[in-house]
Amino acid sequence: MRVLVINAGSSSLKYQLYDMRDESVLAAGKVERIGMDTAILTHEPAGKAEVREVREILEHTAAIRQVLSVLVHKEHGVLGSVSEIDAVGHRVVHGGEAFKQSVVVTPEVKQEIKRLFDLAPLHNPAHMLGIQAVEANMPNVPQTVVFDTAFHQTMPPNSYLYPIPLALYRRHKIRKYGFHGTSHMFVSRRAAEFLGRPVEQLKIVTCHIGNGASVTAVRGGVSVDTSMGMTPLEGLMMGTRSGDLDPAVVPYTMGKEDLTINEVSSMLNKHSGLLAVSGLSSDMREIEQAMEEGNQNAKLAFEMYEYRLRKYIGAYAAAMNGIDCIVWTAGVGENSSLLRERTCSNLEYLGVKMDREANAVRSKQERRISTFESKVEVLVIPTNEELVIAKETYRLIGGNEAGAGAKNPEKLPQHAT
Ligand code: AMP
Repeated sequence: MRVLVINAGSSSLKYQLYDMRDESVLAAGKVERIGMDTAILTHEPAGKAEVREVREILEHTAAIRQVLSVLVHKEHGVLGSVSEIDAVGHRVVHGGEAFKQSVVVTPEVKQEIKRLFDLAPLHNPAHMLGIQAVEANMPNVPQTVVFDTAFHQTMPPNSYLYPIPLALYRRHKIRKYGFHGTSHMFVSRRAAEFLGRPVEQLKIVTCHIGNGASVTAVRGGVSVDTSMGMTPLEGLMMGTRSGDLDPAVVPYTMGKEDLTINEVSSMLNKHSGLLAVSGLSSDMREIEQAMEEGNQNAKLAFEMYEYRLRKYIGAYAAAMNGIDCIVWTAGVGENSSLLRERTCSNLEYLGVKMDREANAVRSKQERRISTFESKVEVLVIPTNEELVIAKETYRLIGGNEAGAGAKNPEKLPQHAT
């Protein structure tokens, strides 16, 4: 069975084609600048040279058409025909309370994703364009949706509610949802496998530290708390996002700087975090480089970033009454030995003992970076959200005949209210 995984943004679309017999990636790529006459298609077929083409791609249906045509191209292609794709799995950022797991796309599912546009105005409409574009190009191929929020739907109310009038939750579903759930789920399960212990017996803190960053408390294999909130702005300091701050900063800044709510929102999402404090970059590589060169603002940005992350790990140790394992993943988490070392060397009170040599090794492999005496296992586990989406799609479509899932779609989960 072959599964095409799609991550559609408003002006971009990433894809990976999996052969589920051995979970190998047959091709991966992306279309950028959708909507322009100079859109860029980058295609990496396994075992063949990368292709990069600039062409007019004005909307998502055309983008999917281009992707399909390059997948069956006689030189760069990896398929004889589009009909060899058995199912398509989409990443969807926000599943609200309706979706506690991945589902097959049905008219009801699409309706519900549309209802959630308000909660994720930058993401969900783009995902819907991706779903419709696949429908237009491959009308008989079953599709699934895998939600970033679904893994966190196990959080208890004392963790997901905000201490504001509960009528706001009842009327508008204002609550913590959490994000990066696909990644937190994947790395927590891989960690248990790595340790050879049942995930049900473990208290794990998963640190997904990329451009966006979140920490999750995973107890017994389920999410019990996570640092992102109703939107991906809450929680850790990130590349360009502020993370936690006093909500009173918003009206105060609006008044003092004569800014609109949208301008403040844009400041907090796009012009804060590492970028704002360093005045240099949102990219941790550049921050670390500048620190080495003695840049004081970069040093301050790094120290704030690490301090806020460490406080969350401590909070989740308190939330779970201890930690058995800390997992590092995503761009910064997998690559910044400096951040891992600084954070973990301040967690000795929890019984964390870092193996400095193991931590310094650069590798794409899953690995232990704590010593064998450490009370808390510290692991680096590369995340693979696309593989989870492909596996979920394979599971939902049945791993049977192509199209089986479309004939027998999972029922839409009920609202949890
Ligand atoms: P992600 O959002 O998971 O793709 O992570 C992207 C981020 O990872 C980049 O913006 C960088 O800040 C960070 N990153 C990638 N490579 C390194 C590295 N070698 N050292 C530190 N940070 C890195």
